[in-house]
Amino acid sequence: MATLAEVLEARTIEAAPELVEQIDRGRLRCYACGHACPIPEGAAGVCKVRFNRGGVLYAPYGYVGGVQCDPVEKKPFFHARPGALAYSFGMLGCDLHCSYCQNWVTSQTLRDPQAVALPRDTSPTALVADALRSGARLVVSTYNEPLITSEWSVAIFKEARAAGLLTAFVSNGNGTPRVLEYLRPWIDLYKVDLKSFDDRRYRQLGGRLAPVLDTIRALHGMGIWLEIVTLLIPGFNDAPDEIDRLTSFVAGISPDIPWHVTAFHKDYHMSDPDNTTPEMLVTAAEAGRRNGLRYVYAGNAPGRVGDLENTRCHECRALLIERDGYHVLQYRLTATGACPACGTAIPGRWAAGFEGQITAAPFLPGRRLLRQI
Ligand code: SF4
Repeated sequence: MATLAEVLEARTIEAAPELVEQIDRGRLRCYACGHACPIPEGAAGVCKVRFNRGGVLYAPYGYVGGVQCDPVEKKPFFHARPGALAYSFGMLGCDLHCSYCQNWVTSQTLRDPQAVALPRDTSPTALVADALRSGARLVVSTYNEPLITSEWSVAIFKEARAAGLLTAFVSNGNGTPRVLEYLRPWIDLYKVDLKSFDDRRYRQLGGRLAPVLDTIRALHGMGIWLEIVTLLIPGFNDAPDEIDRLTSFVAGISPDIPWHVTAFHKDYHMSDPDNTTPEMLVTAAEAGRRNGLRYVYAGNAPGRVGDLENTRCHECRALLIERDGYHVLQYRLTATGACPACGTAIPGRWAAGFEGQITAAPFLPGRRLLRQI
């Protein structure tokens, strides 16, 4: 019986030439993520899913590790098509190894023997057809780190764009200039998980802070719609000084970038810190506002963070979108995406009007509910 490594090895294609460089006779450099691994013949990169065989770099292709229909608010994107269904797919593997990962079964495959997820063969055409059948307005590469499987995402995004869908990454942001240029023509929305503002913390997770900050700068410069999430973990990244530096950095790039500060719940190997309380979220959110961010949200604590689930105009504070968890209760933006009270343009990727909400809770495709809320 084939091992999982052999199963995945059979589901690959040659990596995009833009993401590979020949270092010397035996070694290739991969640019799909910020590790920029030098990979000798016969070896794999840090992510374990891209490998050098016979002087050719191979990349995952032709399968999913999971598919789910999510409300776009779950990704979270709060300034892009509120209420829309986000058809979400993931592959297997990751370039980091966060001890609190909520998707560790798919992300830590090949690294952690307890993380056993099997691939399901599919094609970009089949996935996009399923997304359309499900009523999706966007397709999202998520659940594992999408940068390391960028070729597969781009193949799907090309089909999705042709079908009139938006495309998105939910990513740790450990990118390179090359991979962002490779994605740029095909991607509309990008969520970066900014996990800390301390390089030592990033190194504990298997990465570095600098490439993530560079990715945030580059995405904003490219005009790709960007939202940032920080999972607030007591004792790990919640020091007031760190939150100040993190939010000042984001506001320095643009005060219009939405920042979501979300609650940690004990998961995977990280069970020491206490769960984040709503009060901690509110304190961090206040710091974000104080440091210049106009759109700050508190997540994973529905109904317990006051107004921090809602969108208000940054000029006149009129209520624009009222939410309860992932459920959109009110939508008051104009057809041009402006505040109806004062006319200020609200940053985001808005439709001409609220298109209804198919679901406020995730469900599996095939078990469609298509219930208008
Ligand atoms: S995707 Fe990242 S971790 Fe994987 S081989 Fe390429 S550079 Fe290395």
